[in-house]
Amino acid sequence: NRKFVLAERPVGEPTEQTLRLESGDMPVAGAGQMLLRNEYLSLDPYMRGRMSDAPSYAAPVEIGGTMVGGTVAEVMTSDVKGFEAGDWVVAFGGWQDYSVSDGTMVINMGKDPKNPSWALGVLGMPGLTAWAGLTQIGQPKEGETLVVAGASGPVGATVGQIAKILGLRVVGVAGGAEKCAHVVDVLGFDECIDYKADGFRQALKTAVPKGIDIYFENVGGAVFDAVMPLLNPSARIPVCGLISQYNATSLPDGPDRMSLLMGMMLRKRMTMRGFIVFDDFGHLYPEFAKQMGAWVASGQIKYREEMIEGMEKAPAAFIGLLRGDGFGKRVIKLSA
Ligand code: NDP
Repeated sequence: NRKFVLAERPVGEPTEQTLRLESGDMPVAGAGQMLLRNEYLSLDPYMRGRMSDAPSYAAPVEIGGTMVGGTVAEVMTSDVKGFEAGDWVVAFGGWQDYSVSDGTMVINMGKDPKNPSWALGVLGMPGLTAWAGLTQIGQPKEGETLVVAGASGPVGATVGQIAKILGLRVVGVAGGAEKCAHVVDVLGFDECIDYKADGFRQALKTAVPKGIDIYFENVGGAVFDAVMPLLNPSARIPVCGLISQYNATSLPDGPDRMSLLMGMMLRKRMTMRGFIVFDDFGHLYPEFAKQMGAWVASGQIKYREEMIEGMEKAPAAFIGLLRGDGFGKRVIKLSA
């Protein structure tokens, strides 16, 4: 059983030394457990938080512990009701070939699911994040304007496409011309602004002539700075992620703008609400699965996946994900 363990807590950006590949015995499934062969591993920004022992909503991975992660796996043996050998499941198997589970938080996809790895993206955790954050906190209304960054990534792409279905004007923010072209031409956003290009602030302003009613916050930092003056009265801000800050070792330089933000929230009666997907909206999964399954099947929601073959490539792929090297949902096919 090959696995990646946390070798050291990174300071700033993770490095090739952060994780260590080990080879160990096959895990043994006991009574009330099943043995899973992990075929696909999801790479997600939250994993950076698990590498750190700073206070968070979830416990860190211990030094020497197996790195956590969502997986799509095949059941090898099972003593868990509702699961049998040959079933494909979505689980939290971690960065390893095999894992053992008692069935908690495991979803059975049956013997022959179509596109099983999509359960790590648009049909799974990132999709639920997008759908629930937008509908429950964003409270979208036809004719309003929504802005979302990370627009080519699994959460942002899904947020924008749902908002288009619901009749909003949708402006994406992404890094680079290629990602922006994809967001408009393939995903159907009204516009996409390259935040790395000169004139970003002005281009964003021009793209939202009626201001911004919903800002779905995925990135923080400079993008939020550009969005803030454009927010309308009663704007809603689902605070989903702040990826621009995940490798930061201190607060950004510059004047303290907290009172500016608080004053604006007061005067414009804005709502800003953070959420952790399974804690806040896990109970909505069945409704989400039905709705998103139909949208994906009908082609109304499109999905881009970047499959990388070979477990050994996972650390570099994860470091790159935080830098913005990924284009679509990054998944590792563990068996190369
Ligand atoms: P993505 O694959 O979209 O995340 C990586 C992308 O973030 C990169 O491709 C890059 O896009 C963008 N990015 C990186 N650095 C910066 C920066 N400095 N400024 C602007 N953009 C940057 O991730 P997901 O779709 O999986 O997740 C999106 C966000 O949602 C993350 O913040 C994640 O932590 C959060 N999340 C929160 C959950 C919750 O429960 N609250 C659950 C799931 C995700 P580009 O090339 O366009 O810059």
